[in-house]
Amino acid sequence: MPLQQCLRHQQSAFKHFFAKRARHPRFKSKKQRQSATFASSAFAYRNGQITLAKCQAPLNIRWSRVLPSAPSSKRCHGCGFVVESLPLDVRTWDCPDCGTQGIDRDINAARNILKAGTALLAGAES
Ligand SMILES: [Zn+2]
Repeated sequence: MPLQQCLRHQQSAFKHFFAKRARHPRFKSKKQRQSATFASSAFAYRNGQITLAKCQAPLNIRWSRVLPSAPSSKRCHGCGFVVESLPLDVRTWDCPDCGTQGIDRDINAARNILKAGTALLAGAES
């Protein structure tokens, strides 16, 4: 999976290079701090642990921040209720828990992200 992701990165790098949007791809130095990107099909996220495809044991990860538990567009900004499914073509929805009507998907997500960020900052200050 890391090799496949490497090829995906290289593919997009050369695509941008040949479209004259970017410089020639450079060899990525492995001397500095490293990061990894994985397609959503390449890992499983369960109980706060990430297990890569074809691996038995979960990765030993030191998280720099708490991951959001649910997609922010599916969580009601008023009461925190999470709807089961919300197809992308559904732009507004009604909360079945607190009764808020006409919740705009994008504005709701923005409010949830703001709330999470504010909570994170408040935690960092105290
Ligand atoms: Zn609600």
